[in-house]
Amino acid sequence: MQNKNIRGKCLCGAVQYRYDAIIEKSILCYCMDCQQAQGALGGWNSPI
Ligand SMILES: [Zn+2]
Repeated sequence: MQNKNIRGKCLCGAVQYRYDAIIEKSILCYCMDCQQAQGALGGWNSPI
């Protein structure tokens, strides 16, 4: 995966981040936390 210059924040906006490197791995997680956070069957996450 070649994504760079990714910006994000938590749901309330108190914590923000920027990631300027290549994301090498990503996972699809179906736990209850990811389902609730995404409002979907699961969450697509990239551990950094
Ligand atoms: Zn999860």
